[in-house]
Amino acid sequence: MDHFDYRDGELFAEDIPLSRIAKEVGTPFYCYSTATLERHYQVFADAVAPLGGDVCYAVKANSNIAVIATLARLGAGADVVSGGELRRVLAAGVSADKIVFSGVGKTPEELAKALEAGVKQINVESEPEFLSLSDVAVAHGLEARVAVRVNPDVDAGTHEKITTGKSENKFGIDLALARDVYARAAELPGIKLIGVALHIGSQLTDLEPYRIAYSRAVDFVHLLRSDGHNIRHLDLGGGLGITYDQENAPSPEAYGKMVSEVIGDLDISVTFEPGRMISGNAGVLVTKIIFVKDGVGRQFCIIDGAMNDLIRPTLYDAYHAIIPVKEPDAGVEKMEMDIVGPICESGDYFAKNRAMPPVKDGDLLAVRTVGAYAAVMGSMYNSRALAPEILVNGAQYSVVRRRVEIDDMLKFEILPEWMDTER
Ligand SMILES: *Cc1c(COP(=O)(O)O)cnc(C)c1O
Repeated sequence: MDHFDYRDGELFAEDIPLSRIAKEVGTPFYCYSTATLERHYQVFADAVAPLGGDVCYAVKANSNIAVIATLARLGAGADVVSGGELRRVLAAGVSADKIVFSGVGKTPEELAKALEAGVKQINVESEPEFLSLSDVAVAHGLEARVAVRVNPDVDAGTHEKITTGKSENKFGIDLALARDVYARAAELPGIKLIGVALHIGSQLTDLEPYRIAYSRAVDFVHLLRSDGHNIRHLDLGGGLGITYDQENAPSPEAYGKMVSEVIGDLDISVTFEPGRMISGNAGVLVTKIIFVKDGVGRQFCIIDGAMNDLIRPTLYDAYHAIIPVKEPDAGVEKMEMDIVGPICESGDYFAKNRAMPPVKDGDLLAVRTVGAYAAVMGSMYNSRALAPEILVNGAQYSVVRRRVEIDDMLKFEILPEWMDTER
C-alpha cells in the first residue's frame, strides 16, 4: 500500500498534487511519501517485534538523510555499507548502537570511523578483513563487536545481479570454512565475536530460500556455541521483495512467522536489514514528455527522465509501472509504446512495448516504485542534472535534495595550468 492516488482526476502524493510540485520544482524529480515510509517500517517492525531485535534500515536503498531521519524517529537503526553511509546515518540522527556496518571491502579508514562512532556491530566478510579490523581496533584502543557474514550457499531465486548467498558470489564466508574462521578470530586482539550474519539477496518473492538459509544459520549458531563461542546475535539481512508488477511478494507477517518458526528457542537477539521493502513503494519519479515520436511500427515516448535517474530497467530488466499524472478517462484505448530517455544509449529506456493511454508532448508521467535503488544509483551521465528529491508529509512538501546542476559539477573540474590560455 502507498499514498500515491488519483483524486479528482489528478495524481496526488498524500495531500499534494504532483503537478503542483512539477510546476514549482521542475521535472524530473523524485517524490517520497512520509506516510508510506512510516507505514512500511511499522508493518515490518510489528511483524518481527516478537523476535525482539533491531530493525536496521539498509540505507543503500535510499540514503537521503530526510528519509533516514523519518525512519530513525520511529526507532529504526541502520545498515550501512560504506564510510559515506555511516556519515549519513549519524547526520540523520541514528544512534550508533543501532548501526550495523556491512560490506565486502571495508578500508582501514572506514573501520576506524565505525569503531570511533561505537557502532553496534561490524559484519566481517573475510579473514583478511579480520586481521585488518584487529589492527585498527588495537591501534585505537577499542574493541570491535563482530558478526561473521556467512554464505549459506542458497539460491535466492532472484535476478543474478542481486543474488548474494551462493558460494560463487563474493559475499560472506562459506559455512564450511566459517567454523575455523571463528576459532582463529577468537584469538585476535581487539575482536569480540558476538554473532552470525547473513544476507542472501534482494527482491526475494519466495520465503523458501530464506527458510533454508536461516535454518543453516541456526544450526551453525548451535555449532559455534558448542565450540565455546558466546553467540548472542543473529543478523538475518534484508531482501524481502515488493510488488513492481504482478509479483506476489510475501507479507512481512508471513516472513516474521517463518523466522519465528526457524529460530524456535535459540534464545538470541535477531537483527533485520530491510531496504527495498521499506522505501521502494514510497517513491515515484515524475517526468515530462518532451516528444512523442513515430517510428517504424512503433511509437517512442521521449521523456526528460533517463537511465541516469533510474537505471533499474536496463541494469536488472526491471519493470516499473508508469502512469499519467492526469488520470486517463476510463475505458480509453491503450497503445503500445517505448518510453525512453534522451541519453545516447539504446539502454536508456524505462519501458518497452508498454500499453499506455494516449499521451502527448508536455504531459507528466509518474514512474512508480522508485523509492529504492533509484536516486542512490543516479549519475550525471551526459552532463544531466541530478534530479531533486522531494519529501511529502500530508499537505506539506520539502525539497530534501536540491537539483544538482551542471554548474555545480563544473566547480569540481579544473583545467590544468598548461592549458591556461590567459598567459
Ligand atoms: C542490500 C542489502 C540489504 C537490503 O536489501 P533489500 O533487498 O533492499 O532489503 C540488507 N543487508 C545487506 C548486507 C545488503 O547488502
